[in-house]
Amino acid sequence: MKEIRAGFDAVLITTGASEKRDVKIPGRHLKGIHFAEEILTQSTHRVMGDAIPSHETVYAAGRDVIVIGGGDTGSDCVGTSRRQGAKSVTQFEIMIQPPKLPSFPRAIDRPEESAWPAWTHMLRTTSSHEEGAERHWSLETVAFEADESGNLKGLTTRELAWFTDADGKKVCEAVAGSEKFWPCQMILIAVGFLGAERQGLAAELGLEFDARGNIASQNYASSERGVFAAGDARRGQSLVVWAIAEGREAAKAVNEFLKDKDA
Ligand SMILES: Cc1cc2nc3c(=O)[nH]c(=O)nc-3n(C[C@H](O)[C@H](O)[C@H](O)COP(=O)(O)OP(=O)(O)OC[C@H]3O[C@@H](n4cnc5c(N)ncnc54)[C@H](O)[C@@H]3O)c2cc1C
Repeated sequence: MKEIRAGFDAVLITTGASEKRDVKIPGRHLKGIHFAEEILTQSTHRVMGDAIPSHETVYAAGRDVIVIGGGDTGSDCVGTSRRQGAKSVTQFEIMIQPPKLPSFPRAIDRPEESAWPAWTHMLRTTSSHEEGAERHWSLETVAFEADESGNLKGLTTRELAWFTDADGKKVCEAVAGSEKFWPCQMILIAVGFLGAERQGLAAELGLEFDARGNIASQNYASSERGVFAAGDARRGQSLVVWAIAEGREAAKAVNEFLKDKDA
């Protein structure tokens, strides 16, 4: 990094938001438990015709697959597992099941907490779900379970009861006696991201992070003079359109910086 800093007037960091949230519970070390990106990235490589070393292969064919996490990444895992020939696909979400609304809900149909113009809190069924998956809400995974040979044999969940506390905050408590064992041979963890990677590049550059785990910036300039950030690394996991827009805006900010430097 020292070499890059010495050889270039400005550096733009666009390394994404790859710091994954984990499910840190007993049995996490068991073989057969993967982060979503492992199966998704491999799947893309396969489509591109790249060879995957057999000892690294994550493939759902013939397995009962449980996806932990009910968001977009979880939905991608559902579809990918199904297309790879999984025996069954089950998806768990920790939050309460959102209300079923018409596809394009009118203002009067929307729940109070996501009134127009906020993003509508509603049940979303993707094409991946339509390909076939069992979905469950208000479930917390409490342990990954192994058989006597140490192989993954399933996981245990418990139900959560959600309610609104006196401060208007959504809180939950475990439902006593609701523990349930779910057999499976593959588990995919898709419970979100914690922001940009803190080790390596960012650490070497001594960059500051904001409260959400993203590279802190002002008009794309990081805490280090001459170092800029854009895309998911700066705003957290987002969308391609935002990454493109941020790339353009960051280029303008770098241009202004270089013009001032040369003035
Ligand atoms: C599972 C999943 C599904 C998604 N689906 C969609 C979707 O359908 N539509 C949509 O709009 N968005 C989707 N997104 C979000 C979208 O992928 C991102 O918002 C977008 O790619 C961000 O672009 P970026 O350039 O900021 O970062 P990235 O696309 O993450 O690119 C960062 C790159 O930097 C590389 N890198 C990291 N560290 C270093 C380093 N030290 N040196 C050099 N290179 C490094 C990484 O390998 C990576 O190639 C999805 C995200 C995920 C995780």
